[in-house]
Amino acid sequence: MHSRVLIIFVDALGPLQLEAAGGFGGLPYRGQLRGILGYSCGALPTLLTGAPPARHGRMCLFAQAAEGGGVLAPLALLGLLPRVVHERGRLRRLAAWMLARQARLTGYVELYRVPPEVFRWLDLPEREDLFAADRIGGCETFLSAARRAGLRVFAAPWQLPEEQRWAHTEAVLREQRPDLVFAYATELDGALHRAGNDSAEARLAMRRITTRIERACEAMRAGGGEVSTIVVGDHGMADIGRAVDPRGLLRQLRGVRAFVDSTMMRFWGDDRTLARARALVERAELPGQWLDTGALDARQAPTHGAPYGRALFLLEEGSLFAPSFVGGAMRGMHGYDVDSPSALAAIASDTPIPEGCRSLTDVAPWVRSLLGVTA
Ligand SMILES: [Zn+2]
Repeated sequence: MHSRVLIIFVDALGPLQLEAAGGFGGLPYRGQLRGILGYSCGALPTLLTGAPPARHGRMCLFAQAAEGGGVLAPLALLGLLPRVVHERGRLRRLAAWMLARQARLTGYVELYRVPPEVFRWLDLPEREDLFAADRIGGCETFLSAARRAGLRVFAAPWQLPEEQRWAHTEAVLREQRPDLVFAYATELDGALHRAGNDSAEARLAMRRITTRIERACEAMRAGGGEVSTIVVGDHGMADIGRAVDPRGLLRQLRGVRAFVDSTMMRFWGDDRTLARARALVERAELPGQWLDTGALDARQAPTHGAPYGRALFLLEEGSLFAPSFVGGAMRGMHGYDVDSPSALAAIASDTPIPEGCRSLTDVAPWVRSLLGVTA
């Protein structure tokens, strides 16, 4: 006997956040899942496919382009404008929109504060809409497996603003009675980044999400049959206690290919270059640790072709590079080492969670078995 499945993905729902939200009402079974090294663009593919980043190849939004240049190379032209102009949010959003249209990108495109000259060697691995794609880096998603099995599948359009997306989701649940639903809440992540864990803004977001989950459950059950509901996150959130300005270090590292994410500084180059970078980073006495290719492999990060760096310096939980290439100061951040509390994702369900469901990679097999579809 298979069931219809409602999955509600809540960005930045870790065990701490699930508890603060009061468990989202009537879901009696709860657990925590081991996360991945990287950000949501790596965690979501892991959740959808059941494969670790080393297999699906996603970890950070930006990767090094293959020989011959990546899709972002034309944006190096932004460097012809003065910095105060090319860093404006509106101009960056317009450039991202034009790039997505011109290069037919249907995934998440955001340019943040990446310095224009860096675009020359940078690429965006996420070219496709993750919820529509058959495969991510060669790994099939459970959404795609369900479609292939002839089930009716609905994935909430992530491009819509929160309110609209949930109104649309509820309407589809009532009218179309899908067998598998992937609903999507993004606002908790934004609230936690801006205001931190113990904030009125985060509590308000949790309250709104609780209501939306309750309404979605009700709409799903109105369609009849056995229903399993799973609320799941991709990581948690750590409060920021220390901002690290990377600019002095970057000046010393001139000539070394480096990318500064919010929690990691990633490096490319030959052994000598990396040794020089490591010595400079260690002299700066930043809070964190150097991860070489072996350490990245041990964390099941993608290292084949070094898309995200041959080595990286990872800040310890609670520290943040600001300003980084992807943003400025914030109250909350994630993207720390795999054994940090904020790297854990939460899971809650109205169905007993299988004993072996302990990592983000274990959710896809469970969903497939609830639906009765094969990998
Ligand atoms: Zn986030």
